[in-house]
Amino acid sequence: MESVAKQTGLPVDIVRQINEPIAKRLAEQDAVDAAERSMRKAEAKIMREQYPCPLCSTGHAEPHDCDTFLPLGFIHGGERDGQMDGFWCHPYFCSCSNQRCIACNIFPSKSREEAVERFCAGDFAHEDDFIELKTGKRYHYSQYGIEQQILRHLAHWSAEQVKRLGFDPKLVDTLAMQRTLDRMGDKYVDVFDTTLLCPNCGMKGEYRKAISPITHTKTWWRVGCPYCKTRTRYSFPSQREAAEKFESAQLDTKPSILNEKSLTA
Ligand SMILES: [Zn+2]
Ligand SMILES: [Zn+2]
Ligand SMILES: [Zn+2]
Repeated sequence: MESVAKQTGLPVDIVRQINEPIAKRLAEQDAVDAAERSMRKAEAKIMREQYPCPLCSTGHAEPHDCDTFLPLGFIHGGERDGQMDGFWCHPYFCSCSNQRCIACNIFPSKSREEAVERFCAGDFAHEDDFIELKTGKRYHYSQYGIEQQILRHLAHWSAEQVKRLGFDPKLVDTLAMQRTLDRMGDKYVDVFDTTLLCPNCGMKGEYRKAISPITHTKTWWRVGCPYCKTRTRYSFPSQREAAEKFESAQLDTKPSILNEKSLTA
């Protein structure tokens, strides 16, 4: 406290007066953090005891769910209307709390409880449908959809590990082999990965460095599709803005920073 007083040139008792409530707040925050940490630890212990992962010795069931938009599929060379055909649903999944463990439900469940139950039973490949929120219509994975799920896991895990989820082992081997062969081209698109999807052909677009019209240096971004050459007409100061315009097919939209400029000019 004396050193703070010296640096600021304020009297010690003033520094103490200012410092006291801050120190108190910090101590309180520390206590809250510690309490939360021990609560989380106790929760994890209960989860490990009651809902242990059937594949590893350290993890437990970790249910998750959220409103999700699922594209129905991709049409090559289709009309460029910027609208992706798909539906909203609210699937329940469950995966292992241990990040190094592959255990996870591949198909959705209707409730948190059902998801956890299937997970703990090792019933990871229990086939079930996605249900459209608005209409209640059910969507079942196509063979292609299932293959995409296998490929999605093969991107992070070995074929032997992926088989432990209960996929058809022959299919896993075939896809693993194909994937190795395709790697030079790397042309597969995850069915449910909607980032940077080309609004024209549905393949995955790429970020490209672009010249900033303000500084004339190569610090801006545009997104283009390497397959059909669709791209944003303008470049953007951030990847996020470029991706937004590309994905929503606003290919002729200017970056917002330029619009602001012309308004004030
Ligand atoms: Zn596990
Ligand atoms: Zn998974
Ligand atoms: Zn394209």
